[in-house]
Amino acid sequence: MMKCALFPRPGAGIELASIPIPEPKDQEVRIKVYACGVCHTDITVGEGKVDGITYPRVPGHEVAGVIDVVGKNVVGFKKGDRVGVGFYGGKHCGICKDCLNNSWTTCKKIETCGTTYDGGFAEYMVAPQDALAKIPEDLDFKYAGPLMCAGVTVYNSMRNMKMMPGSLIAIHGLGGLGHLAVQYGNKMGMEVAAIGLDRTNEELYKKLGAHHYFTNDEAVEKLTALGGANLIVATAPHPPSIEKLQKALANEGKLLVLTLIDSMTIDTMDLVLKKKSIVGFLTGDPRDMEDTLKFSALTNVKPMIEEYPLEKVKLCMDKDHMAKAKFRNVLIIDKEKK
Ligand SMILES: [Zn+2]
Ligand SMILES: [Zn+2]
Repeated sequence: MMKCALFPRPGAGIELASIPIPEPKDQEVRIKVYACGVCHTDITVGEGKVDGITYPRVPGHEVAGVIDVVGKNVVGFKKGDRVGVGFYGGKHCGICKDCLNNSWTTCKKIETCGTTYDGGFAEYMVAPQDALAKIPEDLDFKYAGPLMCAGVTVYNSMRNMKMMPGSLIAIHGLGGLGHLAVQYGNKMGMEVAAIGLDRTNEELYKKLGAHHYFTNDEAVEKLTALGGANLIVATAPHPPSIEKLQKALANEGKLLVLTLIDSMTIDTMDLVLKKKSIVGFLTGDPRDMEDTLKFSALTNVKPMIEEYPLEKVKLCMDKDHMAKAKFRNVLIIDKEKK
């Protein structure tokens, strides 16, 4: 038996439990979990509002650990490998239009870790081999965990915007995604402006690599004075301030939306005449995750985290507590021995 935290039924909240240690099937591995980040999506899993989830369900999709059992027909992974699992949970079909287009994350057959199968709020978990990303030796599990969801979402979307070094990019919203976006922007060689509600986090963000710091109220004016932003990364779910920022884009600039908001207004005249675009992006597959981990280890990008034992899972899943965390809560399931 093993310790875990699970949702016994929809709406019941998270509970500590003891369940049998899972066994890997064909093309699956078992992972001894060392750390697992806590993401807002984990709360949604417990609310029972997502179709296709069965209960009880162990959440957690920012998993970092070591393979301890390898199932049949697994290629490229062995016992002892340090691996992570993110929200994209594997089992892409390989033959649909999206898969043939190399877009695994939009395949209709994919599973999601901690949602359609049990995730990392447990001492052990089982994952399909095409959900695994190798973790570099010099990256601690507690930092690798949050990079599997928050990190890959930011890094993979930003690198796909094809900016040149020296481009002006602005990061709107300073939290779990934003504090990583500022670091990645700096390490990618961009001129980085951080945009926050007030001046509270100015010093912290400059330390993380922001060259400028603007409040929501002054951002459009200040960015325009710098020539307009080539890329604005919106991470805070606040439509009025995102809408305003469209004006702060340079000609051909891109507004990358990484937050889920119900709707927003677009100034189409400004969009068309200045050839601007508004882009959405969806996390990444394990190949993108490996790139994210490697880039982070190489350039020393780290998520800022608060560490908790599994026993504190209820606190970590509390919305108010999450909002105050700087910036990601991570469950330490076991201490890494180095
Ligand atoms: Zn997530
Ligand atoms: Zn497919």
